[in-house]
Amino acid sequence: MTPLGDILIARIRATGPITLADYMTECLLHPRYGYYTTRDPFGTAGDFITAPEISQMFGELLGLALAQSWLDQGSPAFTLAELGPGRGTLMADVLRATRSVPGLHAAMTVHLVEASPILRSRQQASLSTYDVQWHASVHELPQAPLYLVANEFFDALPIRQFQRVDAGWRERLVTLTADGLGFGLTAPAPVAALAHRLGDTPQDTIVEYCPAVPAILADIGSRITNHGGTAMIIDYGDRISNGDTFQAMKSNAFANPFSNPGEADLTAHVDFAALAAASPTAHALTTQGAFLTRLGITSRSERLARTLVGSSLQSHLAATRRLTHDQEMGTLFKVLALFPMASPPPPGMT
Ligand code: SAH
Repeated sequence: MTPLGDILIARIRATGPITLADYMTECLLHPRYGYYTTRDPFGTAGDFITAPEISQMFGELLGLALAQSWLDQGSPAFTLAELGPGRGTLMADVLRATRSVPGLHAAMTVHLVEASPILRSRQQASLSTYDVQWHASVHELPQAPLYLVANEFFDALPIRQFQRVDAGWRERLVTLTADGLGFGLTAPAPVAALAHRLGDTPQDTIVEYCPAVPAILADIGSRITNHGGTAMIIDYGDRISNGDTFQAMKSNAFANPFSNPGEADLTAHVDFAALAAASPTAHALTTQGAFLTRLGITSRSERLARTLVGSSLQSHLAATRRLTHDQEMGTLFKVLALFPMASPPPPGMT
């Protein structure tokens, strides 16, 4: 067991089982032993690799979509924000791609929402030529037009899991089992936040609920409704939560989420219906593959390919395929756009 595992076992012994959300919070963000607090988990040698680390094209195309949306809404002074920026690669690509849009950089202030001190310093290094402000929560973003990206942020937010029984739910709690930490079930009870799922979930179905989503989406959505802007949220997940998607990744492979608390990345699929329902804005949802293809990734990729040979050409072509292909990230990853009721959706969505 890890040091954090020993802490959690002692806590459960003393005060009883904890929600899966509490378990995830401790494992990801414990101030001393948390996964994100203690390391930079990205890159080919890390535990997982994300779209901006796979290819610069991802951030470039996303940046141009945001820029078009900013032009469509009259080029206001605005907040350019990212949630969970990792190494800062996506924001660096967005900024490089938008540098040639007249007036855009002069109109922006750059804001990053990041919990991890280690990753904040990585972001500082990637974005050293820009004036950047960090925040602990979306709540602290300015009341101003908001152009926001979040890639693989929402999957890292802690979830609770409930199993449907008759007219109620049994919650899956983290408890002590014969093998250490594992799942137990509460007695059935009604759950107000899942009342709307009683009509579409057969007996025993597991539904996931992310308690942080309503407040975060209300903060983003109210800024866009009151001041304008656009949010682009990219993640793996489903149109609606349906089944157990809680998983652990360690060294680019699936791991047992209870074996090494604090040393594996813990995630769950994003429930896009819950995100859209919590925002007062207009929204559109598409797949990452369709989004990047509509934005012209094929011709951008061909242009970059002309400057490459040998193994760099091969890895560039593999990266294009990885971002867009149905069997890779193309379909599992979705893009949710939030925008004002009176404005057109950003390019790439339809
Ligand atoms: N967007 C990046 C990184 C994704 S990993 C990329 O695509 O490569 C998730 C990111 O969210 C990390 O930067 C992590 O430190 C941050 N994060 C996780 N939980 C958070 C929370 N509750 N508040 C703020 N940042 C969080």
